[in-house]
Amino acid sequence: MTNEIVIRKDRLWDSIQALGEIGEVDGAMMRVTGSDADRRARDRVVGWFEAADMDVAVDAVGNIVARRVGRVDAPPVVTGSHIDTVPAGGKFDGTVGVLGPLEIVRAWNAANVETDRPLHVVVFTEEEGTRFGTGLLGSLVATERLQADKALALEDEDGVTLAEALRSIGYDGTAELGLADAAAFIEMHVEQGPILDRSDTAVGIVETVAGITHHRVTFEGEADHAGNTPMAMRRDAYVGAAEFALELERTARRHAETSNTVGTVGKSKVTPNGTNVIPGRVELGVDIRDTDDEHLHETVSSAREHARAIASKRELSHQWQSLLEVTPTELSPDISNRLVEAVQNCGHTYRRMLSGAGHDAMNVAAVAPAGMLFVPSRDGISHSPEEYTSPEDVYMGTRVLEAALRELTRSG
Ligand SMILES: [Zn+2]
Repeated sequence: MTNEIVIRKDRLWDSIQALGEIGEVDGAMMRVTGSDADRRARDRVVGWFEAADMDVAVDAVGNIVARRVGRVDAPPVVTGSHIDTVPAGGKFDGTVGVLGPLEIVRAWNAANVETDRPLHVVVFTEEEGTRFGTGLLGSLVATERLQADKALALEDEDGVTLAEALRSIGYDGTAELGLADAAAFIEMHVEQGPILDRSDTAVGIVETVAGITHHRVTFEGEADHAGNTPMAMRRDAYVGAAEFALELERTARRHAETSNTVGTVGKSKVTPNGTNVIPGRVELGVDIRDTDDEHLHETVSSAREHARAIASKRELSHQWQSLLEVTPTELSPDISNRLVEAVQNCGHTYRRMLSGAGHDAMNVAAVAPAGMLFVPSRDGISHSPEEYTSPEDVYMGTRVLEAALRELTRSG
């Protein structure tokens, strides 16, 4: 006999707060893969899953899977996210996508809900790439886009391998997540942008995850005395870099009229970096994203062309090194439509949108039908102690996720 399913806002919020105490220093979260805080957070979450009658297993790279059985032996419906953080991160990034599903299982248990398909909740290792330098690491391995051996051999700055780090916290397992067999995958996550918050919308249904490219662009001129070198006799690398940043903004804005283009100079290293010295060398960290692959490549090639033209006009030398290229990912339209139905049944507001940030769901999308659900980030802030999603917003997102998972775990 199934009773009414009640998602308990207080219990959900208490779990988020309790997990948020692990690895917290002065309000900032520091839960890096393989750290003591990571171990304690994993132990806490595993304890909660087990207390909710789930069977918990760990794979070779420390990904955790908690399984709730179904009535029939059919491919599972999978949900989940991550609990590692960036240095000085927040309590919601990743966490809501793990503890929302935990609350759903608790609510289903309380209401004696039996699903046809099993429900699996996964917790991916090293999503942020903070310690071992590769983001989305756990899901890359779980979807066989990266070999476990290669991942386990990755080293942190002190030469400690992922294998050693996981062994030291007791999360080196042998299970298989079997994501390729999943009937569906949904990740709930905080938006990490301002769109939902500004438009007072309860949930975002993500249809596309933007492609991401990173580049190191270096301009080299000549370091000279700022007092004794006349303006006409300078080869100032900084003004070249500055001109490039402005050109990138113009190019990205132009492409953004017809696509979801964003371009950012997020990092600069000035050498020698003295107030009374003309900069001889500037190294820029450039991030260009787009949901459309063709636009992405066009923006990158016009930025390259501008860098070349600016360097030659200013008699600078320049170098362009591409460091990262992730192509845009279409999520499953079928899962998006299921999420729209779920949100309409719950009576909450929603919008279809894109994700400018990478998520584990984009790796899963390569092997199974995958979707994503965003909940609002206050003022769009994330990767910061200021990151906040209200109890009401987490609750609404979890209700929508519950409704979608309940439909998807019905077989046939
Ligand atoms: Zn995240």
